[in-house]
Amino acid sequence: MLIQENLSTGEKLKILSDAAKYDVSCTSSGVKRKGKAGHLGNAHEAGICHSFAADGRCISLLKILMTNQCIYDCKYCVNRCSNDTLRTSFTPEEICGLTMEFYRRNYIEGLFLSSGVLYSPDYTMERIFQVVLKLRNHYRFNGYIHVKAIPGASPELIRQTGFLVDRMSINLELPTAEGLRKLAPGKTREKILQPMRQIQQGIWGSRSLTADFKDEVLRISPDCGGGAARPVRGAGFSGGAALLHKDFALSGNFQPDPSGRPFVPAGQSTQMIVGATPENDFQMMSVAQALYRNFGMKRVFYSAYVPVNEDSSLPALPGGPPLLREHRLYQADWLLRFYGFRAEELLSEDRPNFNVFLDPKCDWALRHLELFPVEVNRANYAQLLRVPGMGVKSARRILAARSQGRLDFGDLKKLGVVMKRAVYFITCSGRMMEGVRLDQDYITGCLVGDERRAVWDIEHKDCYRQLSLFDDMKLSACSSGENQVMAERGEI
Ligand code: SF4
Repeated sequence: MLIQENLSTGEKLKILSDAAKYDVSCTSSGVKRKGKAGHLGNAHEAGICHSFAADGRCISLLKILMTNQCIYDCKYCVNRCSNDTLRTSFTPEEICGLTMEFYRRNYIEGLFLSSGVLYSPDYTMERIFQVVLKLRNHYRFNGYIHVKAIPGASPELIRQTGFLVDRMSINLELPTAEGLRKLAPGKTREKILQPMRQIQQGIWGSRSLTADFKDEVLRISPDCGGGAARPVRGAGFSGGAALLHKDFALSGNFQPDPSGRPFVPAGQSTQMIVGATPENDFQMMSVAQALYRNFGMKRVFYSAYVPVNEDSSLPALPGGPPLLREHRLYQADWLLRFYGFRAEELLSEDRPNFNVFLDPKCDWALRHLELFPVEVNRANYAQLLRVPGMGVKSARRILAARSQGRLDFGDLKKLGVVMKRAVYFITCSGRMMEGVRLDQDYITGCLVGDERRAVWDIEHKDCYRQLSLFDDMKLSACSSGENQVMAERGEI
């Protein structure tokens, strides 16, 4: 391992921001904090990472590794100890200085700090803790902070760090224990899940102390875990799992911070690599669903495997990183979190992978034509959400607009419905749009034609890259793609 001692902070920044680019679990949301007298910064509920490259990666956090030294040898990782690359580390003071400087210059809105494992999990976690402690207490930084929890670190270090940051994440990396054994020999499923569970329980313990907790328990959805789309109470969601969390929270196991800081208020997230091991989409979605349900995950991220190492245990990818597969997983993930779908509805043992030519919602609808057409002037919220081309916003708008009178096809377009998809699955006042037939072959042909261009864009992302502080910021080089934008708005 080649450790470089005398690098400038700028040189370290170049190495350690580049080394962080394979971690995609850095979007932010769910925390709102006003500026405070004597403190610098604030955090917005709507999310700090307002800007996304076409591949969905955020660009407005200072996203760095504390060190790219690592005692582990994960086969897929550019920072694995067996790689002969230049190694360096930031001191906690350097990270604080960079964060404050960039924040003052308006380059960033927060910090995303990950790290290789330096000497031991405890040593690394302790240094991460020192960074956030200094930022919050010495520099009085009030902006957004997301850090990685290091599997194997002491629960007390994770606990103390959790009271200082907004979000924590631990990467599951590979969806099965077998995959971990094969490609990440220093990690085990247990070592990863144990701190995830601790963070989940801390979050619920902390939330139980707030006044709106009771309301949250009523609204949360154990079916999709995140419960982010729940405008209508009783739309098929029960509160069972949430009540279990409540029981834990009220059982006295949670030790609150003496100064009253919330624990990981923006929730926890994780990331899985797509295509490094042979798991199919059904296995990936089933694991994601279990993470949402059982660990209260705020987000599961999917990262198409990018070959950076020569290793016989890694797959050859002649077609490049599986970007379309990653895209389909994100679309399906959205359906789990916001649309009330379950993984078993979208895929099965017999049909374990997503359709290359159709997005998961269209694909599902075409296999369930018996549920269509849906009459937009009568359907309930859950039925509207299942119509391709209708999203959370448009379904809500339809419910609101219906109280003013009957809706026709022209009204739906104005309400934000994507008619080129929805038109095959709906009626207005009992009539389908003229010329449209509820016929599987006919609809498939029409939808596949529309989707072909989007698929081509995704598979030919030669501009697929992580933005960094050193980029020229020519985002226009990347085709944003209608599907990407729609997915981000929840209009699948
Ligand atoms: S623990 Fe594994 S994935 Fe993380 S930096 Fe070390 S080698 Fe890479």
